[in-house]
Formats: sequence, C-alpha cells, structure tokens
Amino acid sequence: MKQLNDSHPAMSCIGNFTADELSLNLEKSGFPSYRGKQLFHALYARKHDTPFSFESITTLPSDIRNSLLQKYGTDHFSIQLTDVHVSKDGTRKMLFSLLDDTAVETVLIPSEMVNEEGLPKRRTLCISTQVGCALGCAFCATATLKLKRNLATAEIVDQYMRAREICSTDITNIVFMGMGEPMLNYDNVMKAVDILTQPESELISPKHITLSTAGIVPGIIRLADESRSIKLALSLHGTTQGQREAIMPIANKYSLKELGDALEYYYRKTKKPITFEYILFDGFNDTQEDVMRLAKLTRRVPSKVNVIPFHTIEFTAPEGISASLKPAPESTFYAFIKALRSQDVTVMIRSSSGLDIDAACGQLAYSHAGGSAGAIA
Ligand code: SF4
Repeated sequence: MKQLNDSHPAMSCIGNFTADELSLNLEKSGFPSYRGKQLFHALYARKHDTPFSFESITTLPSDIRNSLLQKYGTDHFSIQLTDVHVSKDGTRKMLFSLLDDTAVETVLIPSEMVNEEGLPKRRTLCISTQVGCALGCAFCATATLKLKRNLATAEIVDQYMRAREICSTDITNIVFMGMGEPMLNYDNVMKAVDILTQPESELISPKHITLSTAGIVPGIIRLADESRSIKLALSLHGTTQGQREAIMPIANKYSLKELGDALEYYYRKTKKPITFEYILFDGFNDTQEDVMRLAKLTRRVPSKVNVIPFHTIEFTAPEGISASLKPAPESTFYAFIKALRSQDVTVMIRSSSGLDIDAACGQLAYSHAGGSAGAIA
C-alpha cells in the first residue's frame, strides 16, 4: 500500500492534525490545551486572500508562536506550486511538488453557471490522494506513473488550502477524483475530510465532498458502515464484467456483481444516491446494448450517471488496449445520452473542462516525472 512511515517529512507537517490533536501537542509542550482550538481556527478559518503566518496569530501568546515557528518553520505547507495551466474556460490545473520531490496534480473546475456576483456558482476542486496509482486503468495517464506512495493527510488538506490562495477564490465542492484511488488511502483521506469539515475550520460541508472509487468493495462497505456524510461516485466505464476487466484491472478482483451488491448495501445504510461515472469510448461501450445494461445497473440504487468525454492519453505513447481507446464521436455521445434518458436514467454530461490545457488526469505529473509529454514544457 506504500504507506508513509513516521519519519517521512510530510508526516511532521501541521496539516496532519485535527483540532484535538493540536491541543494535545500543545499540552505536551507545556501550553494550555485550549490554545489548540485557537491555532486550528487561525490555520483554517480565514479568508482565501488572508496569508497565514505563525507570527500573525494574535490570539496566541508569543511563546507559543515562537515554539510553533521553531517546530514547523516559516513555510508550514507540505506542498509547493511548481506549475499552473489556465484554460480558456477558467479551469486551472496546478502541479504541486512534495517534500520528497514527487508531484501531484490538483484541478480547479469552475461551473458554467454564475452567481449574482458574476462568479461561477460552483468552484470544484479535484484533489489527488496518492502519488501515481497502482490500479492501471487503461485510459488513465496517472496509471503510467505507477504507485509511488500514499499522500499524507497534510498533503491532501494543503491541496485545498493552497488552491484557494493560488486561484483567489473560495472552493465550494471537493471531488476526490485526482491522481490515485482514495479508498486505498482511506485513513489519510478521511482524516483530511475531518479536518476540512470540522465546524471550527468554517471551510466546507461534507455534503459537498464526493469520493470517487474505481470499485474497491471493502472501501464502499467501510464508508457505508461509518455513515459518513460525503457522497460516493463509482467509476464504472463498462456495462459488462468483460468490458471492465479489459480496461480496469481492479475488476478482476471485485466483480460487477460484488460491486452492485456493495452499492445496494451502501444505499441501504446511508440512503444516499450514487453517481456512476461513465467515459464513453468509440466502439467499446457506446452501443444500444450498453444503454440497456447501464440503465439496468443504475436502477439497482437511486443514482445518476455522469457521461464523460474521453481525454486522450496519446502523450503517454499507449500500447495494447490503451492505444485502441478513442473518444466517441460527438454524434454518438449525444445519441447515447438521449437513449439513456429515454430509459428514465438521470444523466449529467460532464463537460470537457480544460480541454485546451489537456486536463487528462496525470498529464502534468507525467511530464514532471520525465515522461515524453510533448504538450507540456
Ligand atoms: S483512473 Fe483513477 S483508479 Fe484508475 S489508474 Fe487512474 S487514478 Fe488510478
């Protein structure tokens, strides 16, 4: 699982700690524990354009501020911005380098609808949970990087905190759909959710957070048993066991039947509808039979389907089935959606946000890792 051990530099960053843990840490250093809540509030409950420094926490006495400065340094973040690409539609793709010189991507996607201030109604942040990924999906650039390691809680929390500073905006929604499989870094991801959604952080409600899995059944069961308020999405991308096995090796471990059962269990426990993610590939999963099977599958639980255009991964010089995957033509794409809707399935069209900056997941990080990505300098 490539868990981090305690000596990894990311593990000593302040973003790893809940308010209670900060209180405990301060207590161990001889300070009153109630100062932990004040510290947590200063770290998180601030406007996106208010820079943070330990020196500026006026609610804490100077001896605590000095002690924090000594322990965490002037730059307390676990990640640094290395590169940012801005799309014509406002999508921002950020590359962050980590303390061990690995890198992850984070993408801010504005909605097309605007509010009364002229700002996009939703500003959704797509957050990474691992460096690379072990699951090897045939359509994914991150898969070519293989798994380097899990992200620490601080590295997940800091993607959110840095992105709102860099993009000068509050973030309204989070999707764990970036690099990595969040269910395989469950503890660190959920601790990050806890920190970001603690009422004292005043940042985001768990109802506005979605975790997307490629189909890790034990993770779905655990999420159901913990009755968390975040939402669940499943990357389906195929309507038969054979299709899924062909492009998602994890399907060999957890079958479509087991997945369906796990989703029913999840719904029974949480009463939360599920989102199915479905990338449409030309001639692979775009037939009328697929429409009928997809409709049947999704009827097992209250749900909706996000149909997603395929972002090509030509830059990874794909081989085998990866090389044969092509985006469905626009006419097929819309015909598929129409047919699905005619089966009373709720369908959302995931926009091609950031197409002009090659928003395929993993592209910037692929480049950073020395891949031959021609489009990225
Ligand atoms: S699609 Fe997601 S789960 Fe599959 S290889 Fe890419 S990052 Fe991993």
